[in-house]
Amino acid sequence: MASGRDNAVKRKLFIYDKNSDKSDISSETDDSVRDKDYFNNSSSSSFNNNRYRRIFCSEYNIGFNIPTSDTCATCDEYNILLDTHKSDKNKLKEIKTNLKLHQRQAEGMQTNMKNEIQRSKNENDLEVICFDLQQALPIPQLTVGKAFYLQKIWMYNLGIYDGKTGKSFMNMWTEDVAKRGSDEIASCLLKFIKEHFPTPSKNLLVFTDNCGGQNKNWTIMTLWFHLVRSKVY
Ligand SMILES: [Zn+2]
Repeated sequence: MASGRDNAVKRKLFIYDKNSDKSDISSETDDSVRDKDYFNNSSSSSFNNNRYRRIFCSEYNIGFNIPTSDTCATCDEYNILLDTHKSDKNKLKEIKTNLKLHQRQAEGMQTNMKNEIQRSKNENDLEVICFDLQQALPIPQLTVGKAFYLQKIWMYNLGIYDGKTGKSFMNMWTEDVAKRGSDEIASCLLKFIKEHFPTPSKNLLVFTDNCGGQNKNWTIMTLWFHLVRSKVY
Protein backbone atom coordinates (compact mmCIF):
# COMPACT_ATOMS: atom_id res chain seq x y z
CA MET A 1 0.00 0.00 0.00
CA ALA A 2 2.78 2.41 0.89
CA SER A 3 4.44 1.65 -2.39
CA GLY A 4 1.25 2.43 -4.32
CA ARG A 5 0.76 5.70 -2.50
CA ASP A 6 4.34 6.81 -3.04
CA ASN A 7 4.11 5.95 -6.69
CA ALA A 8 0.90 7.94 -6.97
CA VAL A 9 2.66 10.90 -5.38
CA LYS A 10 5.50 10.58 -7.82
CA ARG A 11 3.13 10.41 -10.78
CA LYS A 12 1.55 13.69 -9.68
CA LEU A 13 5.00 15.23 -9.46
CA PHE A 14 5.67 14.45 -13.09
CA ILE A 15 2.50 16.26 -14.08
CA TYR A 16 2.91 19.34 -11.96
CA ASP A 17 6.57 20.04 -11.88
CA LYS A 18 7.57 21.32 -15.28
CA ASN A 19 11.20 21.65 -14.29
CA SER A 20 11.58 18.30 -12.59
CA ASP A 21 14.15 15.81 -13.67
CA LYS A 22 12.19 12.66 -14.47
CA SER A 23 15.11 10.33 -14.14
CA ASP A 24 15.87 11.76 -10.72
CA ILE A 25 12.33 11.10 -9.45
CA SER A 26 11.98 7.66 -10.94
CA SER A 27 15.18 6.62 -9.22
CA GLU A 28 13.31 6.92 -5.90
CA THR A 29 12.40 3.29 -5.44
CA ASP A 30 12.71 2.93 -1.70
CA ASP A 31 9.20 2.43 -0.29
CA SER A 32 10.23 3.90 3.01
CA VAL A 33 10.80 7.31 1.42
CA ARG A 34 7.60 9.16 2.16
CA ASP A 35 6.29 12.17 0.32
CA LYS A 36 7.22 14.51 3.18
CA ASP A 37 10.82 13.35 3.28
CA TYR A 38 11.00 13.62 -0.45
CA PHE A 39 10.03 17.28 -0.40
CA ASN A 40 12.21 18.10 2.58
CA ASN A 41 15.25 16.63 0.87
CA SER A 42 14.43 17.80 -2.63
CA SER A 43 16.97 20.10 -4.19
CA SER A 44 14.45 21.42 -6.72
CA SER A 45 13.12 24.85 -5.78
CA SER A 46 10.08 24.67 -8.07
CA PHE A 47 8.01 22.42 -5.83
CA ASN A 48 7.68 22.11 -2.12
CA ASN A 49 5.37 20.62 0.44
CA ASN A 50 3.05 23.66 0.45
CA ARG A 51 2.57 23.64 -3.31
CA TYR A 52 1.94 19.90 -3.30
CA ARG A 53 -0.64 20.26 -0.51
CA ARG A 54 -2.34 23.23 -2.21
CA ILE A 55 -2.72 21.42 -5.55
CA PHE A 56 -3.99 18.22 -3.97
CA CYS A 57 -6.47 20.02 -1.71
CA SER A 58 -7.78 22.60 -4.17
CA GLU A 59 -7.72 20.87 -7.56
CA TYR A 60 -8.54 17.31 -6.59
CA ASN A 61 -11.03 15.70 -4.31
CA ILE A 62 -8.21 14.21 -2.30
CA GLY A 63 -7.67 14.93 1.39
CA PHE A 64 -4.70 14.36 3.62
CA ASN A 65 -6.73 13.07 6.50
CA ILE A 66 -9.50 10.49 6.75
CA PRO A 67 -12.77 12.21 7.76
CA THR A 68 -13.45 11.57 11.44
CA SER A 69 -17.15 10.94 10.83
CA ASP A 70 -19.43 10.29 7.90
CA THR A 71 -21.43 13.12 6.33
CA CYS A 72 -25.12 13.42 5.52
CA ALA A 73 -25.91 12.64 1.87
CA THR A 74 -28.55 15.39 1.66
CA CYS A 75 -26.18 18.05 3.07
CA ASP A 76 -23.50 16.89 0.65
CA GLU A 77 -25.93 17.12 -2.26
CA TYR A 78 -26.96 20.68 -1.34
CA ASN A 79 -23.33 21.75 -0.86
CA ILE A 80 -22.43 20.42 -4.32
CA LEU A 81 -25.45 22.23 -5.81
CA LEU A 82 -24.37 25.45 -4.08
CA ASP A 83 -20.98 25.11 -5.69
CA THR A 84 -22.47 24.31 -9.11
CA HIS A 85 -24.95 27.21 -9.19
CA LYS A 86 -22.62 29.90 -7.90
CA SER A 87 -23.60 32.37 -10.60
CA ASP A 88 -27.38 31.83 -10.50
CA LYS A 89 -28.67 34.02 -7.66
CA ASN A 90 -32.25 32.72 -7.65
CA LYS A 91 -31.20 29.08 -7.73
CA LEU A 92 -28.64 29.77 -5.01
CA LYS A 93 -31.31 31.28 -2.78
CA GLU A 94 -33.60 28.29 -3.31
CA ILE A 95 -30.83 25.78 -2.49
CA LYS A 96 -29.83 27.72 0.64
CA THR A 97 -33.43 27.74 1.85
CA ASN A 98 -33.77 23.99 1.29
CA LEU A 99 -30.48 23.32 3.06
CA LYS A 100 -31.53 25.44 6.04
CA LEU A 101 -34.88 23.62 6.20
CA HIS A 102 -33.14 20.25 6.10
CA GLN A 103 -30.73 21.29 8.88
CA ARG A 104 -33.63 22.54 11.02
CA GLN A 105 -35.39 19.20 10.61
CA ALA A 106 -32.24 17.39 11.75
CA GLU A 107 -31.85 19.73 14.74
CA GLY A 108 -35.53 19.24 15.56
CA MET A 109 -35.07 15.48 15.67
CA GLN A 110 -32.01 15.82 17.91
CA THR A 111 -33.99 18.00 20.31
CA ASN A 112 -36.88 15.55 20.20
CA MET A 113 -34.54 12.68 21.10
CA LYS A 114 -33.02 14.60 24.03
CA ASN A 115 -36.48 15.51 25.34
CA GLU A 116 -37.70 11.90 25.11
CA ILE A 117 -34.59 10.61 26.89
CA GLN A 118 -35.22 13.13 29.65
CA ARG A 119 -38.90 12.11 29.81
CA SER A 120 -37.97 8.42 30.15
CA LYS A 121 -35.95 9.22 33.28
CA ASN A 122 -39.10 10.49 34.97
CA GLU A 123 -41.72 8.11 33.61
CA ASN A 124 -41.80 4.45 34.57
CA ASP A 125 -43.83 3.29 31.58
CA LEU A 126 -41.39 4.60 28.98
CA GLU A 127 -38.07 3.23 27.76
CA VAL A 128 -35.92 5.01 25.19
CA ILE A 129 -33.07 3.38 23.32
CA CYS A 130 -30.74 4.79 20.67
CA PHE A 131 -28.60 2.46 18.59
CA ASP A 132 -26.11 2.65 15.76
CA LEU A 133 -23.52 0.42 14.16
CA GLN A 134 -20.03 1.84 14.47
CA GLN A 135 -17.66 2.08 11.53
CA ALA A 136 -16.02 -1.34 11.04
CA LEU A 137 -12.83 -1.67 13.09
CA PRO A 138 -9.77 -3.40 11.63
CA ILE A 139 -8.02 -5.57 14.20
CA PRO A 140 -5.43 -6.23 15.54
CA GLN A 141 -3.92 -2.76 15.81
CA LEU A 142 -0.25 -3.52 15.39
CA THR A 143 2.34 -1.12 14.04
CA VAL A 144 5.15 -3.62 13.59
CA GLY A 145 6.10 -3.69 9.89
CA LYS A 146 5.09 -7.25 9.02
CA ALA A 147 1.64 -7.03 10.62
CA PHE A 148 1.00 -3.44 9.51
CA TYR A 149 0.67 -4.37 5.84
CA LEU A 150 -1.25 -7.60 6.34
CA GLN A 151 -4.99 -7.75 5.82
CA LYS A 152 -6.88 -7.18 9.07
CA ILE A 153 -9.99 -8.87 10.36
CA TRP A 154 -13.04 -6.59 10.64
CA MET A 155 -14.72 -6.14 13.98
CA TYR A 156 -18.29 -4.82 14.18
CA ASN A 157 -19.81 -2.94 17.08
CA LEU A 158 -23.46 -2.13 17.63
CA GLY A 159 -23.77 0.49 20.36
CA ILE A 160 -27.07 0.65 22.25
CA TYR A 161 -27.79 3.55 24.60
CA ASP A 162 -30.33 3.14 27.37
CA GLY A 163 -31.93 6.57 27.90
CA LYS A 164 -33.33 5.85 31.37
CA THR A 165 -30.07 4.76 32.97
CA GLY A 166 -27.75 6.76 30.69
CA LYS A 167 -25.65 3.65 30.13
CA SER A 168 -24.28 2.41 26.81
CA PHE A 169 -23.81 -1.23 25.84
CA MET A 170 -21.54 -2.46 23.09
CA ASN A 171 -22.30 -5.62 21.09
CA MET A 172 -19.11 -6.67 19.37
CA TRP A 173 -18.32 -9.49 16.96
CA THR A 174 -15.89 -10.22 14.18
CA GLU A 175 -16.60 -10.89 10.51
CA ASP A 176 -15.88 -14.62 10.88
CA VAL A 177 -18.70 -14.90 13.44
CA ALA A 178 -21.47 -13.09 11.57
CA LYS A 179 -22.15 -10.39 8.99
CA ARG A 180 -23.46 -6.92 9.85
CA GLY A 181 -26.85 -6.98 8.19
CA SER A 182 -30.36 -6.57 9.53
CA ASP A 183 -30.45 -10.12 11.01
CA GLU A 184 -27.45 -9.41 13.21
CA ILE A 185 -28.77 -6.01 14.28
CA ALA A 186 -32.16 -7.54 15.13
CA SER A 187 -30.48 -10.32 17.17
CA CYS A 188 -28.50 -7.76 19.19
CA LEU A 189 -31.59 -5.62 19.83
CA LEU A 190 -33.71 -8.59 20.90
CA LYS A 191 -30.97 -9.80 23.24
CA PHE A 192 -30.58 -6.33 24.72
CA ILE A 193 -34.32 -5.85 25.26
CA LYS A 194 -34.74 -9.28 26.87
CA GLU A 195 -31.77 -8.78 29.18
CA HIS A 196 -32.27 -5.15 30.15
CA PHE A 197 -36.02 -4.85 30.24
CA PRO A 198 -37.16 -8.18 31.77
CA THR A 199 -40.28 -6.41 33.01
CA PRO A 200 -40.87 -4.10 30.08
CA SER A 201 -42.44 -0.68 30.28
CA LYS A 202 -45.61 0.11 28.40
CA ASN A 203 -43.80 2.05 25.68
CA LEU A 204 -40.51 1.70 23.91
CA LEU A 205 -39.14 4.58 21.83
CA VAL A 206 -36.29 3.84 19.45
CA PHE A 207 -33.95 6.34 17.80
CA THR A 208 -31.53 5.41 15.05
CA ASP A 209 -30.39 6.65 11.66
CA ASN A 210 -31.84 5.98 8.21
CA CYS A 211 -29.38 3.27 7.18
CA GLY A 212 -31.45 0.95 5.00
CA GLY A 213 -29.17 -2.06 5.29
CA GLN A 214 -29.12 -2.17 9.06
CA ASN A 215 -31.90 -0.12 10.64
CA LYS A 216 -34.68 0.78 8.24
CA ASN A 217 -35.81 -2.50 6.75
CA TRP A 218 -38.40 -5.25 7.02
CA THR A 219 -36.35 -7.42 9.38
CA ILE A 220 -36.19 -4.66 12.00
CA MET A 221 -39.85 -3.78 11.39
CA THR A 222 -40.71 -7.45 11.95
CA LEU A 223 -38.81 -7.35 15.23
CA TRP A 224 -40.97 -4.44 16.48
CA PHE A 225 -44.13 -6.31 15.32
CA HIS A 226 -42.92 -9.40 17.16
CA LEU A 227 -42.47 -7.43 20.40
CA VAL A 228 -45.93 -5.94 20.08
CA ARG A 229 -47.67 -9.20 19.08
CA SER A 230 -45.98 -11.16 21.86
CA LYS A 231 -47.28 -8.44 24.22
CA VAL A 232 -43.85 -7.36 25.33
CA TYR A 233 -44.89 -3.80 24.38
ZN1 LIG B 1 -27.92 16.70 6.37
